[in-house]
Amino acid sequence: MNDETRRLARLDRRHLWHPFTQMRDWEREEPVIIRSARGCRLTDTEGRTYLDGVSSLWVNVHGHRRPEIDRAVRRQLGRVAHSTLLGLGNVPSIELAAELVRIAPPGLTRVFYSDNGSTAVEVALKLAFSYWRRGGEGRKRLFVRLRNAYHGDTIGAVSVGGIDLFHERFRPLLFPTLLGPSFDCYRCPLGRERSTCSRECLAALARLVRRRRDEIAALVIEPLVQAAGGMIVARPGHLAAVASICRENGVLLIADEVAVGFGRTGTMFACEREGVSPDLLALSKGISGGYLPLGATLATDRIYRAFRAPHRARRTFFHGHSYTGNPLACAAALASLEVFRRERVLDRLGPKIRLLGRLLAPLARRPHVGDVRQCGLMAGIELVRSKRTKRPYPFGARVGHRVSMRARRHGLVIRPLGDVIVLMPPLSVSPRDLRRMVAVVGRCIREETE
Ligand code: PMP
Repeated sequence: MNDETRRLARLDRRHLWHPFTQMRDWEREEPVIIRSARGCRLTDTEGRTYLDGVSSLWVNVHGHRRPEIDRAVRRQLGRVAHSTLLGLGNVPSIELAAELVRIAPPGLTRVFYSDNGSTAVEVALKLAFSYWRRGGEGRKRLFVRLRNAYHGDTIGAVSVGGIDLFHERFRPLLFPTLLGPSFDCYRCPLGRERSTCSRECLAALARLVRRRRDEIAALVIEPLVQAAGGMIVARPGHLAAVASICRENGVLLIADEVAVGFGRTGTMFACEREGVSPDLLALSKGISGGYLPLGATLATDRIYRAFRAPHRARRTFFHGHSYTGNPLACAAALASLEVFRRERVLDRLGPKIRLLGRLLAPLARRPHVGDVRQCGLMAGIELVRSKRTKRPYPFGARVGHRVSMRARRHGLVIRPLGDVIVLMPPLSVSPRDLRRMVAVVGRCIREETE
């Protein structure tokens, strides 16, 4: 270990508190400290390079140090780094809003900015809640959340989460919700197998929504993939069916595309795949190409108009963050969308998605791989103690963590979700790097579990 790494590691252990990290373990492990990156490769302070197998926690889109995005941020720095949207406009936030509305599912016409995925969801929740009160339907104040859902870590977002390990401990602080079934076909909440399923989860959800429709403000869903819940991929048609349930019962649909947006599933937005236009759409992560923190909540005109009234009516949306619409982040986002357009990124994604599918297929035959799930360039490989009974490994075995640590030694950075190994490379990943990523994952799974 060189002097610089040693010094930084000491300071890190002494002063940092890492997110979603048991610090007692962290203090004992050798930290990898990233100094620079280019394309899909990260370089640490020891000069070692790693493939970025999870897009720096699902944010990076076109690779690190994309010249076009670097240039756009520098150009913006030469003008202004930050100016408020409270009472003022700024150039990139206006241009980006118009661009987002242009590419979003039809019907979403307004953009409310914030700083991250949790706040984008938080804004959607507050808008939905206020919308019904403004329309004189004060009873409609409940949210339907799904088991395994993850929408962020602020208290509102946690309230609509469904991962017990993360969320249940905060229950006394959370607002009441209605819990609907996950679309998890591997561990079906209704005890079905993929082969015998008649979409009982949708029928159960429809019953729940119908019964309580007068009390429900909105249903919150991660379209197509429950990402943090374990890369759980919905069957085709599930999202469209949920949207119909909402529409038929006068319930707003909040689509949280924080993880799946910006090309991850193969289309710009996951909702597009099933022709769904939500009432509210939460965006973040890939929005800025993975450069800078930025959140956006898109709303329909109907929702916007419910807040538009004479000042004295006090219908203003009283919400806003200091860095709302940050010009640097918006400039990065505009440059990222320009790369999407100019390089026809989405049109060229198909072969990579199919290659990933072909590479993952043999892993499903390994004795401790219970399930392999893929949607676009998002993939989850669920490791189990018993393939036959789907029995998981004990919590303390940390098999997912061990596989990821081993992958690091082979030059691949990944971060698991429990015992689900996650691969979510930048969209710009080359076929060669994709092959290498899956090869390392396969090897490390074999070495840790067989
Ligand atoms: N929604 C979804 C679907 C997410 O995956 C995440 C983050 N993993 C969030 C919201 C929260 O985003 P952030 O971490 O930027 O607050």
